[in-house]
Amino acid sequence: MEKDAIVVGSGPNGFAAAITLAQAGLSVMLIEGKETLGGGMRSQELTLPGFIHDVCAAVYPLGRGSPFFNQLDLENLEWVTPSIPLAHPLENSDAVVLEKDLTTTIKSLGEDGYSYAYLIEPLASQWDALANDILGPLRIPKHPWAMLRFAFYALQPATLLAKKLFKEPRTRSLFAGLAAHGVLPLDRSLTSAYGIILGALAHKVGWPFPKGGAQNLTNALAKFFVSLGGEIVTGLTINRLDQLPPSKVIMMDVTPRQLLKIAGDLFPKSYQRQLQAYRYGPGIFKMDWALSSPIPWKNKQCSEAGTIHLGGDEQEIMLSLKELWQNQHSQKPYIILSQPSLFDKSRAPKDQHIAWGYCHVPHGSTVNMSEIIENQIERWAPGFKDCILAKSVKNSKDMEIYNPNYIGGDINGGVQDLYQLFTRPTKRIVPYKTPIDNLFICSSSTPPGGGVHGMCGFHAAKVALKFLNYKF
Ligand SMILES: Cc1cc2nc3c(=O)[nH]c(=O)nc-3n(C[C@H](O)[C@H](O)[C@H](O)COP(=O)(O)OP(=O)(O)OC[C@H]3O[C@@H](n4cnc5c(N)ncnc54)[C@H](O)[C@@H]3O)c2cc1C
Repeated sequence: MEKDAIVVGSGPNGFAAAITLAQAGLSVMLIEGKETLGGGMRSQELTLPGFIHDVCAAVYPLGRGSPFFNQLDLENLEWVTPSIPLAHPLENSDAVVLEKDLTTTIKSLGEDGYSYAYLIEPLASQWDALANDILGPLRIPKHPWAMLRFAFYALQPATLLAKKLFKEPRTRSLFAGLAAHGVLPLDRSLTSAYGIILGALAHKVGWPFPKGGAQNLTNALAKFFVSLGGEIVTGLTINRLDQLPPSKVIMMDVTPRQLLKIAGDLFPKSYQRQLQAYRYGPGIFKMDWALSSPIPWKNKQCSEAGTIHLGGDEQEIMLSLKELWQNQHSQKPYIILSQPSLFDKSRAPKDQHIAWGYCHVPHGSTVNMSEIIENQIERWAPGFKDCILAKSVKNSKDMEIYNPNYIGGDINGGVQDLYQLFTRPTKRIVPYKTPIDNLFICSSSTPPGGGVHGMCGFHAAKVALKFLNYKF
């Protein structure tokens, strides 16, 4: 039977598109190539029975701060929010710590407290008003003055902004670790944006995890979608558009390279060329550990934080990103580590724990970084290796096999530099549209890019709804 809409891909953006269309009263079918739903939001016993690991995304500041997610009433979903979202260990057992409470963080930053507040507080306090524009395509914002202030700082290279604002090396290291989520050399424009947004969200919503793991977020989204009348098909990879049942609109939660394979010959040559020119970024090397005990951090506050940035000081983080963009494997990489079982006992058997971590590697790398990653953790947590009961490793190629959207291990659906953040996937006024009237792209290869927030799918669905109204 004909559907109003077909959505291909069940990542957060596929779900957001499917739910937004179903909320508008459309009949929607969501098709997923793999046997399980969720794209980047899945959990699995990757190591030992009873140890629930998040295969991809583990930490959800963008999810909790997302206007799309926040308007949903999701059943059976509980968020676990550590009061210390982030700790960043430094030398001599020191650690710079981001508390959810802004005042405590300001105090802990000493001389830099005021500058930190000056930079971060305006966005934290105005997040609800600005989120739809910050997590959206380039357009005239609803609150132009507040957005102008945000953009003035966000567009600056993180190293430059840190030099201007922060006196203490430890504050600069904290900001470098936050900005490094953008996976760009920190002397490039826009890198401050990642630092400011993640810093602001730490105080606005924390850096939470779904209780029981990422899969519970997917399950809640699926249940909600079905309650709206949505239909789900799994285990059906779409390689050509004519595999799809008839529908009025098609939403593709895929990246440009897959879109070219699926529908390329139907596009004008100029659009094909633009999709071919789309740039993918570095990959990742991901590890999950089953542990006999919590990680023995030298600095005790690290044992109270949900997420740890391991990468040393600002200089060391800068170097590891510089090496990455020179196609080298850093020997002291910047690592993002999450330790959810400290806050959610359902993630591991009694008194045992899990940890999740990854570092960036050159695009498509198959180099085994396990030893290097574990040595980095040992630097700040001697004895870590003795706690390991079992581990799972995935290089960039493995990540792409696991999820075809992670081209070469790029988890953001393409480079997110100043140029490509707003022109993803191509230079069009409405980036979600393709030259085929009823075909839309809604993955993280559209604005606002990577992360679990669903806002690419949400904005794409709004565009598709406009198209349908126009036709009706
Ligand atoms: C290891 C790792 C850690 C991460 N950590 C975080 C984090 O902590 N916080 C955060 O916010 N983000 C994180 N991310 C990023 C986040 O997961 C992604 O940015 C996000 O999932 C992108 O959503 P999406 O809907 O665009 O695509 P995806 O989530 O990749 O979903 C795409 C879906 O489409 C399906 N698909 C693709 N092609 C086809 C086809 N031809 N036919 C049918 N189905 C198809 C795929 O199987 C997949 O299920 C992480 C990612 C990884 C890999």
